[in-house]
Amino acid sequence: GMLVVEYYERNDLRTNANRQYVLQIIANMLGDIKKKIDYENRVHRYAFYDTKTALANRNLLNYELERLTEGEAGSTRIALLNVELINFRTINNTYGHNVGDQIIVKVAEILEKLVEDKDMIARSGTSQFILVIPNLRDREHALTYANEIMEAFSRPVATHQDIEALFIDISIGIALYPEDGRKVDLLLRNVDLAGYNARFGNNRITFFSEQMQEYISDNTTLTNRLFDALKRKEFFLEFQPQVNFAIEQVAGAEALLRWAPTANERISPGQFIPILEQTGLIHDVGLWVLEKTLETHLDFIKKGFPPLRFSINISIIQLQRDGFVDSVAKLLQDYGVDPQYFELEVTESAFSVDPLRTVTTLRQLKELGVKIAIDDFGKGYSSLQRLYLLPIDRIKIDKSFVDDIEHDDRKANMLGMIILFSRLLKAQVTVEGVETKQQIDLLKNYNCDEIQGFYYSRPLAPPLLEEFLTK
Ligand code: C2E
Ligand code: CA
Ligand code: CA
Repeated sequence: GMLVVEYYERNDLRTNANRQYVLQIIANMLGDIKKKIDYENRVHRYAFYDTKTALANRNLLNYELERLTEGEAGSTRIALLNVELINFRTINNTYGHNVGDQIIVKVAEILEKLVEDKDMIARSGTSQFILVIPNLRDREHALTYANEIMEAFSRPVATHQDIEALFIDISIGIALYPEDGRKVDLLLRNVDLAGYNARFGNNRITFFSEQMQEYISDNTTLTNRLFDALKRKEFFLEFQPQVNFAIEQVAGAEALLRWAPTANERISPGQFIPILEQTGLIHDVGLWVLEKTLETHLDFIKKGFPPLRFSINISIIQLQRDGFVDSVAKLLQDYGVDPQYFELEVTESAFSVDPLRTVTTLRQLKELGVKIAIDDFGKGYSSLQRLYLLPIDRIKIDKSFVDDIEHDDRKANMLGMIILFSRLLKAQVTVEGVETKQQIDLLKNYNCDEIQGFYYSRPLAPPLLEEFLTK
């Protein structure tokens, strides 16, 4: 009996014929009608429903979609919304499966409140839900739905455990019937593609489009190539000068990772760093960046320069792993450098998943003697209170606050406010992404310590940095 149940669960029961066939086997094996009904119920439950949320699973989703798109009952227009919990894995790893399970149940409840009776919600993967909206009016209607879902998740979700409520980052991919696929298989594949793009692309809500397949294949190829990149020595670093604004002299340099898979091919960090993070490769690559930077720092001293401060970007994924602080400590010791010359840059998002753990880890890092900078400040949301919990050495104001500042008074005011705020935290201020003379002139009205941007210099290979320092 159990064996058959497992068989039933494992196989995808897309067609009625398949289902009928399996039930027939069970019936034959059991003979007894009463037992057969029990088993059928059980088989039905296991095969069509998700046990954690009691929502439909992928099998029932398939079945329903077949029904909706076939014959008389055929709905004219259907929207499929693929809702993915982007930071679910991090939450699971940080708080354990118990909290993870509670989050899944909560999310299911939130989604159920949002939909109408005729709509269907399925749990289609560990951290994925698919909403089916029949009798759709138009694209706009689907978008309204998606926006409502986004809105619902702009507030943190509470669990029973005695921990802070958690922010759930979600993305939504949308596919429409019939235009994005008349057949259920194709429609489901395309809503997966849209989901993938929503998750990894620039827009958290994304409709399916024909070009998506290409993007996915490209990314898969990149992923495969990244696995060997470290071993094949395809990474290198460039260093962007950070200039003391008052005296216009180099105060430090930021290490920026570069990837050249072949001699004349460059992939941008914006493209490959998310993949390093998703695959966990960032742990090793991140330590490699630190090691290379320590090496460069010592090289410059050997060449007769005074010790130069270097910044290194640390991904939130690296901060989450036990032993990260120890690895940093060991490298600093192995290279015998003075830690005060190294600044670790973390983005505000490090505080969004597990703020207390982040604060603890950053404090431990500070105890090693390194400095901490908040990168891309102002770009994400951050709890000002949380920043207050932490001795921050520097705030790097995101480029978006400087773009267009010449023509936008309100932006200039915002910039002024952020600088004031940084002063309250007793942090140094770096303004990033400064490109023009006009921006420089405007910035003279504000009290910022350092400037990093193309206006002074692009990121440079070590020999060019040497030249820049000499000038
Ligand atoms: P980021 O940490 O904000 O680094 C600054 C980015 O802004 C760099 O882009 C730099 O080239 C660019 N930039 C600096 N000044 C200007 C300017 O005036 N105009 C414009 N348009 N851009 C400017 P890059 O090198 O493409 O790096 C992108 C992002 O990749 C970095 O943003 C950082 O988040 C990430 N990244 C780079 N290296 C590493 C690394 O070793 N580890 C980790 N975890 N992330 C890294
Ligand atoms: Ca940075
Ligand atoms: Ca930045």
